[in-house]
Amino acid sequence: MKKVLVVVLMVVSLAGVTLFGQWTEIDFLGMVVERANPTLDTAHADAPGETGETISEVSETDTIPKHSEPAVSEPAEEAATDTTPPPVDPVPDAELPIPAASDFELTGTLGICPRMTVSNAPETEEDLAIAGYEPFVQAEGTVLLAVAPTEGCVSSGMGVRNGRVHKGLDFRTDDPGMVYAAAPGTILEAHYRQDYGNQVVIDHGEGVFTRYAHLASFAPDIAEGGKVQLGTPLGPMGNTASYSIPVHLHYEVLVGDYDTPAKSFGLTPKDPFEYPFVGTP
Ligand SMILES: [Zn+2]
Repeated sequence: MKKVLVVVLMVVSLAGVTLFGQWTEIDFLGMVVERANPTLDTAHADAPGETGETISEVSETDTIPKHSEPAVSEPAEEAATDTTPPPVDPVPDAELPIPAASDFELTGTLGICPRMTVSNAPETEEDLAIAGYEPFVQAEGTVLLAVAPTEGCVSSGMGVRNGRVHKGLDFRTDDPGMVYAAAPGTILEAHYRQDYGNQVVIDHGEGVFTRYAHLASFAPDIAEGGKVQLGTPLGPMGNTASYSIPVHLHYEVLVGDYDTPAKSFGLTPKDPFEYPFVGTP
């Protein structure tokens, strides 16, 4: 009888190991599959209801200058899953000089930043100037937007960066200047967020919007509901909510319907360099 019991126990035990082994393998494979599809390939990574990402999970190495500048960590602009309005808590970066408001100039050239690894960089000439560049693009076939709403070079393009979607263009310069409205429109958002810092969102009509993030502060008269023209100063380029990354502008072109619960985070980011260039209107 004892032998029978022992045999039964062994069989049950082996079956348990097998079941456990299968379950473990499935779980393991599930984990692998999940890791093989990290946050995604499209802007829908920011759709409301998707959670689980925190600022601390994001890291950035691909825009670290190759020279002696210190290592930087990713600003959380790609991790913006929080669609609830954050508390308004402006964090002016008082250390930065505030440039004159009337300095907006459209130049005929724009380049990617030298001595940096620029992810998702547009096609460039040998001197790092962007090939075929003109100061405007025609967004969605209707709205003319300035490609470079500030001074500086492109330090990051739009697209997947370190397994995350970078939803706009980054501009940086050693001498941070003013950030300007890329086209006429109405200010829909002008407030501080934990992930974007001081940010402005402008409605240009025709379902086209732009976002300007990490501003050091807001220029006078910049408030939600206000009107802007092409070149209206929005605020100095800054570093708000971007941790240790150098001062830069994060600039997004967005399309879609703003009137959803997710507001600007329900819009679809577009790569400005995928629109046709247009000269000064
Ligand atoms: Zn950015």
